Amino acid sequence: MIIRKKFRFEGAHIVRNCTSQRCRENIHGHSYEVEVFLKSDQLDNGFMVMDFVRLNNVAEFIHSFDHSYTLWDKETEDVKEAIYRINTRVAEIPVSPSAEGYALLFFFVIDLIIANISLVNGEGIVKLHAVRVHETLSGYAEASAEDMSLVRFTLADIRFNEGIKKEWKDKTWWIKVNNP
Ligand SMILES: [Zn+2]
Repeated sequence: MIIRKKFRFEGAHIVRNCTSQRCRENIHGHSYEVEVFLKSDQLDNGFMVMDFVRLNNVAEFIHSFDHSYTLWDKETEDVKEAIYRINTRVAEIPVSPSAEGYALLFFFVIDLIIANISLVNGEGIVKLHAVRVHETLSGYAEASAEDMSLVRFTLADIRFNEGIKKEWKDKTWWIKVNNP
């Protein structure tokens, strides 16, 4: 059985090398919707796949990108310097921040978060099924496990700056994801 939880964030980026000149040459923003699909082989004691309240670290992760600049780590050093100089919140990531890149990055991290959630109410084997990232009202990109072969990176390649970290409600969640 599959359940879905929807998150939102307001994010800024440039998508280098894309076909649209406007998108590849200008800082601009989108109101993103992120759908997280979970599946399980059985229901918990409350006849749920997993109570959504257990997804607080997933929310913390996605909201790290809210009112942040998402910086591709392949940007030139002068662009990086300017982005860090003018923004308080910067997330530096190893994929270009297209909807596809976000979907793959989010699948990678949320899969680790889900794997580390302790089962407390008779849940079955809960797994991340897919992550769908809507950049506009009319289009989305969806990533699942089989798509992860499209990219190659590790958690160490994802960097949240202090402006983001200091606003985390649970300051330890990222350490826990890195040290399961
Ligand atoms: Zn865009």
